[in-house]
Amino acid sequence: MKSIRLKPGKERAVERRHPWVFSGAIAKGAADMGETVRVEADDGRFLAWAAFSPASAIKLRIWSFTESDRIDAAMIRARIEAAIAFRARLDIRSDALRLIHAEADGLPGLIVDRYGDVVVAQFLSAGAERWRREIIEAVMELSGATRLFERSDSASRKLEGLEGSTGWITGDGDSSVEINEHDWRFHVDVAEGHKTGHYLDQRDNRAAFARLVRGLGYARVLNCHAYTGGFAIAALDGGASEVVSVDSSRPALAQAEAHVALNGFDPGRAGFVAADANTFLREQGAAGEMFDAIVLDPPKFAATVKHAERAARAYKDLNRVAFKALAPGGMLMTYSCSGAIGTELFQKIVASAALEAGVDAYVLHRLEAAPDHPMTLAFPEGEYLKGLVLVRR
Ligand code: SAH
Repeated sequence: MKSIRLKPGKERAVERRHPWVFSGAIAKGAADMGETVRVEADDGRFLAWAAFSPASAIKLRIWSFTESDRIDAAMIRARIEAAIAFRARLDIRSDALRLIHAEADGLPGLIVDRYGDVVVAQFLSAGAERWRREIIEAVMELSGATRLFERSDSASRKLEGLEGSTGWITGDGDSSVEINEHDWRFHVDVAEGHKTGHYLDQRDNRAAFARLVRGLGYARVLNCHAYTGGFAIAALDGGASEVVSVDSSRPALAQAEAHVALNGFDPGRAGFVAADANTFLREQGAAGEMFDAIVLDPPKFAATVKHAERAARAYKDLNRVAFKALAPGGMLMTYSCSGAIGTELFQKIVASAALEAGVDAYVLHRLEAAPDHPMTLAFPEGEYLKGLVLVRR
């Protein structure tokens, strides 16, 4: 077993059970891609077992902090079993859910999502890639799914020095799967859709939106960054008389339109606009076209902390134009999925946007990712999605 020695003082983060070690913390030692190594302090003391990643800035991803643990197929299987068992105890109102959320489930770099009979896996770290055969075997056995599709096409895989890899691993057939979320039906294309196909992390927030639209009696709803129409379906179910969905992607909007029909809603209540959300909002505001409820769910503006400042400006601009198109008493549900923008900072950004728009608002709710995407205390970086529900005073 190869050892990786850390620089003096660099053991502290590991002792707090943080699962990553960056290249700058390493004094000496190297290993092959994904190889299991012994991580030791400056004095040679055992700290952890980890997977080594030669190409990445995150050189070590920790499997275990316990010296007597063995990193083998049985351990991988036990972690997968525990992750799946945890989800089974959660009250998830869908047959589509995240079974394995990487670091939070003790499986760094591994994402596994379930859509009905299909599981979709992303092997995003050298360590996850090293154990892919064992992972696939355990996931197929323990999840009860019959087919497995690989979507290892995320940018983070390149940072690990791994080639992209997509396609059926077990089974085959149509990559479009019908799911049932809160009694709504969606078609999810696991080969072509964003991420693994569907924004599972917004599941509970879509249900919350339906309740709020109904409870507060909102008529005209604007769903920006609509993707395949999740929040639009929620608004229609919540009784909105009109829902306009805006997205820059035409194929996504075509799916959204199909979802309105699939769920039996009157197509006359749903409009679709292929446009940049910011431009659309600015035009609506300028024309005095106001909405009773607006959703902003943009893609990640800050890829890393380096981009946080520019991203903060982009969030502020977007939220400002949304406030200007929000009717008095109307509701803004606004999100950021940038891990580099913390919850507190996001609220400050939204507050300056409101100030610039000349409106004030009640904070009705703070939102986060659904519980099948948990954050752990040792790895707060895992918290990426944050949302605010605001009602204009
Ligand atoms: N709310 C959706 C997920 C949104 S994902 C759901 O619940 O399923 C973000 C979406 O923003 C993507 O569909 C992407 O196509 C869209 N998008 C990206 N840039 C955009 C822009 N400038 N204007 C409008 N939509 C944009």
